Amino acid sequence: MKDSLLRQSKKSFLKMEMNLEGSQTWQHVFGILQDTELHETYRHVWTLQINNTLDELTFSQRQQGWKIYKTSTFASFRCPSCRNFWNSAKVSLTFHYRLVEHKRGEVRLRLFRQVCRSCKNDIMLTGSFARDKKEEVLMRLINKIKRNCYKEDIDIVDYFREMKITKPHEASLCEACKMGKCSREEELF
Ligand SMILES: [Zn+2]
Ligand SMILES: [Zn+2]
Repeated sequence: MKDSLLRQSKKSFLKMEMNLEGSQTWQHVFGILQDTELHETYRHVWTLQINNTLDELTFSQRQQGWKIYKTSTFASFRCPSCRNFWNSAKVSLTFHYRLVEHKRGEVRLRLFRQVCRSCKNDIMLTGSFARDKKEEVLMRLINKIKRNCYKEDIDIVDYFREMKITKPHEASLCEACKMGKCSREEELF
């Protein structure tokens, strides 16, 4: 009896941990924000997918209604080879987003990666983003969606003017810099 209770609570603890992990994903955080910020007003469901091959918009993508938002945020990295740990205040992100036939919305997100400075082995590592950073950057995206897909009159603060950089950004270790896509905040149609 005691044993099975123990097993049970261990099981639910594991489940809780998994849920915790699940609640940290970009999809989940975006889901909560779109619910109150977009779905409540417009009755359209917006979904987010990670897609690490996103690039500039092509002509035909623009014709299909895709818009692009490039920005950056804070993340930390851990190298699995040497256990090196570092923070970066400027990890580049690219969003593609569109409203589909006034029914639903799609967002794709590319997270640019970085190389470990001790190993310098060309293995690209994806950062880990704290929940509040995800919320903050997704809210900036949602404001773009409100303005550009729903014509809301929104004042958007220039994020980079507000940003305080503490350390110089190391271009040689940054995937976005290597591709020439790391310099500034951009929004194109
Ligand atoms: Zn390393
Ligand atoms: Zn860079």
